[in-house]
Amino acid sequence: MIKKIDHVGIAVSNMEEACRFYEDVLEIKVTGTEEVKEQKVITAFLPVGDSEIELLAPTAPDSPIARFIEKRGEGIQHIALRVDDIEAELERLKAAGVRLIDEKPRRGAGGAKIAFIHPKATGGVLLEISEREE
Ligand code: ZN
Repeated sequence: MIKKIDHVGIAVSNMEEACRFYEDVLEIKVTGTEEVKEQKVITAFLPVGDSEIELLAPTAPDSPIARFIEKRGEGIQHIALRVDDIEAELERLKAAGVRLIDEKPRRGAGGAKIAFIHPKATGGVLLEISEREE
């Protein structure tokens, strides 16, 4: 049911600086930015082939991304896996006894439905599962 790596989420302190590096040095273009108010985060999407890099910068000190950077520094924050049917995937994971952060999907950037699997269940990696229109 998992189709591909949808995106890799990277926590950055300064979105403009990070975008400059990706755009000017790596020549990967930002195709959109969006503020996700519930998460107190601004995101930028940079498509690379069939997947994307998602840059995440905090908009408030109590943002989960601000806490992540405080604890671990900037860097890879999560990996997102694309699924066709997020509700079915969550049911499957629950039935398998996998520890979830989100039992129900919530709204992510770009209108995606997303849910996080707890890093304790994955060997230390925060995994997002994501369903969105192609
Ligand atoms: Zn993500």
